[in-house]
Amino acid sequence: MTRYIVTCTPPTPNGDLHLGHLSGPFLAAEICQRVLRQAGHDVLFVSYADDYQSYVLRKATELERDPVPFSELVRRTMMLSLESVDIRFDHFLRAFDSPAFQRAARHYLDIVSPDIERRKTPVHICSTTGFYGYEAFGRGCCNWCGASSDASQCEACARKPVPEKMSDMRSIFTGKPMELAEVETYVWHLGRHYNKVAQAHAHQPIRSCLREFLADVLADEADTWSITRPGDAGLQLDSLDEQPLHTWFMGLSGYRATVDAFLEENPERGTFKEWWAPDTRMVHFLGYDCSFSHAVAYCVQQVCDPSGPPVGLFLTNRFLKLDGDDFSTSRGNAIWIRDIAGLYPSDAIRLYAAWFAPETGVRNFEMSEFRKWVEGVYRPLAQSVRDVARTGIPSKPRGSDTGDYWRNSSSIAAWDRHADLDNFSIAGMAAAIIGLADEIAAAPRAERLAGWREFTRISAAICPNLAMTLNGEPSA
Ligand SMILES: [Zn+2]
Repeated sequence: MTRYIVTCTPPTPNGDLHLGHLSGPFLAAEICQRVLRQAGHDVLFVSYADDYQSYVLRKATELERDPVPFSELVRRTMMLSLESVDIRFDHFLRAFDSPAFQRAARHYLDIVSPDIERRKTPVHICSTTGFYGYEAFGRGCCNWCGASSDASQCEACARKPVPEKMSDMRSIFTGKPMELAEVETYVWHLGRHYNKVAQAHAHQPIRSCLREFLADVLADEADTWSITRPGDAGLQLDSLDEQPLHTWFMGLSGYRATVDAFLEENPERGTFKEWWAPDTRMVHFLGYDCSFSHAVAYCVQQVCDPSGPPVGLFLTNRFLKLDGDDFSTSRGNAIWIRDIAGLYPSDAIRLYAAWFAPETGVRNFEMSEFRKWVEGVYRPLAQSVRDVARTGIPSKPRGSDTGDYWRNSSSIAAWDRHADLDNFSIAGMAAAIIGLADEIAAAPRAERLAGWREFTRISAAICPNLAMTLNGEPSA
């Protein structure tokens, strides 16, 4: 038995979660933690509300609300949306006002302190509103790839843009060009540790787009990153005078704090010292656009802190599009999880979202295709499951129903391969589940019950309700 901490990137509490979030890290992380538990490991599944994100401040400003109670309202909404598709974190921390979060942020600030200096850095400013363009309040063109981006991390290429090299930088509130100013910030010389980080990633089974990104970024050992953003959202610690730490520096702090806060309330699950330890494995699920903070910056924090878990596995996803366009909360181009969960069974949404997951490339979701799939694939499968469950699956073999027949099943072999962290893929697992249902339908009648026993095992992580029905348990 190994201790695993499975994380999902913290969502920004500026609006509810949509299908793009689900198909991205949320469902993949949730399925992964079920698979690890099924294999007998001890798992904590954690995330937190990214309350210190500057997009929360922007949304609260637009809605004329206080960001603190507003983000808590959205955090609770998100938890209900996730529950409607059977996703429950062990703990989903509220970062605002959390003593554990502040402790963790202080810890990693101490860890990196030998590598930080205070100096002037360029940043855009809107001369009308006074807002700085560190992130949510300005948008221009990424100097690396040319895509529209904020100045923090580019959604298209995942690099951190260089403010003075960005073009057409405009204020979000006025649409007017922003000016370049100089502000004193704390700058972290994180590149000094890139060699160690590259070594830690070298043998991890990460996807090729992240592998290429890391090869580019980690080659620059002179790389620096401002960790404070005066005049913007962030956590103000006493030791950093009017220099709030920005949220992207604090992601590992967030995971650490969530584990800490959970164990404080659930001491029967072990102590923080036992969990936040060198023999615990971390598995992170993240959008490709979060690659710099997660697979670079947090790994530097980890290689500089041997008392905690070592660099873990980072599994990235690309974006899901909707009818050819980006999912967008502000333009209303989104399918909300709570809406689709009110129309279709949770297992149907989970199985399709897994099968269609944009793991290595952008995918385009169309509601009409999903509807067709539900009627043509999911409903007949769920009916077969109910029919089998009515007669029951004997736990012991009977007659020729020995299970030998299924040793050569290509679908079961595919599921076993894709459920392993070395080749982890929810799309591969989902395709295997659908494939096994077809194999069972084509098998000799005497072999089918043993096939359904295998189906119960391999479907449990993605379609927990179908598996429970086959086990004769009431579904959730
Ligand atoms: Zn870019």
